[in-house]
Amino acid sequence: MNRREFVGTALAGTATMLASRAVAATAFAVGPAQVLALSDGHFDMPVTMFLGTPHGLRAQLGDPVQIAANTYAYRANDRTFLFDAGAGTSDFITQAFPTVSKLPDDLNAAGIAPGDVTDIVITHMHPDHIGGLAVGNIPAFPNARIHIAAAEWDFWNAQGFAGSGPEAMRPMIAAVQETSNAVESNVVLHNGSADLGDGVSVMPAPGHTPGHTAIVLDGGREQFIVVGDLTVHEDVHFANPSYGWALDVDGELAVASRRSLLDMISTDGLIMGAAHVSRPGLGRVERDGDGYRFLPL
Ligand SMILES: [Zn+2]
Repeated sequence: MNRREFVGTALAGTATMLASRAVAATAFAVGPAQVLALSDGHFDMPVTMFLGTPHGLRAQLGDPVQIAANTYAYRANDRTFLFDAGAGTSDFITQAFPTVSKLPDDLNAAGIAPGDVTDIVITHMHPDHIGGLAVGNIPAFPNARIHIAAAEWDFWNAQGFAGSGPEAMRPMIAAVQETSNAVESNVVLHNGSADLGDGVSVMPAPGHTPGHTAIVLDGGREQFIVVGDLTVHEDVHFANPSYGWALDVDGELAVASRRSLLDMISTDGLIMGAAHVSRPGLGRVERDGDGYRFLPL
């Protein structure tokens, strides 16, 4: 833990010039690798979406619950990785969630132009994670390979799913398919476990969605794992990994993945990054009784 080098807030000068947003990316070290924590804004979600949580916890969380929208960027030798792509500006997003879609500003402030991004690794295809891949039907990152688990791609793009999936999900499915169509020629499918080079690999973490994927950055003496929506809130899913989340496609499998990854993260001392845990979503995990505790970096 002492080896952790905290770089603190980077790019403060750049951010000051962009006075419209008093926000700067947080740079942190994973061994010799430098990672940027970026923000797409936040969501306000009904507390009832935390399935199975008791009254007392709901009162403590408040209603609605503000959840973060974190993404991460990593510059390797000649590659620039993004881990998830933000919500973007589709009607589906902007009508329901006016407090997101800020990632392009953060990338700009960090000096990352859309054309610089060579690889985008997607944890899963919910619109808040892939909507930013396209603007209308044009790829937002024209030079990027987009790495997605085949199981995830096939689930969302199954023929007829937009008309046959659960009624309440149909607008979301349509938004996912629109984004998929816009970027399809840049998509590279993997089988859930893959080495993407430059220290980046993926491993399966299914349940939240069928092809939900964790991203691991091996920094040598430190490792960083991006867990997507494995844990949505630091005050909910660590102390009791059995609590649910309404957007989990398979709740039981989501709990099993949450338990096994939290076990690995705590045992191996990984730094984790979670999409919706309070900004910047970075921390370590400690065992605590039957559950775990999240220790923000
Ligand atoms: Zn999400």
